[in-house]
Amino acid sequence: MAYVVAEPCYDCKYTDCVEVCPVDCFYEDEHMLYIHPGECIDCNACVPECPVEAIFAEAEVPAQWKSYTPLNAEKAPVSTQITHKKDSLVGTTSKDCTKK
Ligand code: SF4
Ligand code: SF4
Repeated sequence: MAYVVAEPCYDCKYTDCVEVCPVDCFYEDEHMLYIHPGECIDCNACVPECPVEAIFAEAEVPAQWKSYTPLNAEKAPVSTQITHKKDSLVGTTSKDCTKK
């Protein structure tokens, strides 16, 4: 099992999550972050850090976002590793990234 970044991250990218990951298994493209399922150790540290509640344990990904599980597996290995927080996309896209 692994943890999965789902739709709330898309066009928000707060990136708070990357600071706490003990194995640095977050990767990014221009829209969102992905967790590498072969590297994630299921520690749960990132879940409470995400301001928009985008991260779920694989078994708990909401039904409407199930496609994000294979998407993370597909995208993480070909995306750029991110280990430090940076400016979010809030205000630069049409997405409402209001913090929960
Ligand atoms: S903290 Fe949440 S919104 Fe920000 S990059 Fe991580 S998963 Fe995406
Ligand atoms: S569950 Fe732990 S190891 Fe997996 S992405 Fe989150 S912080 Fe990293």
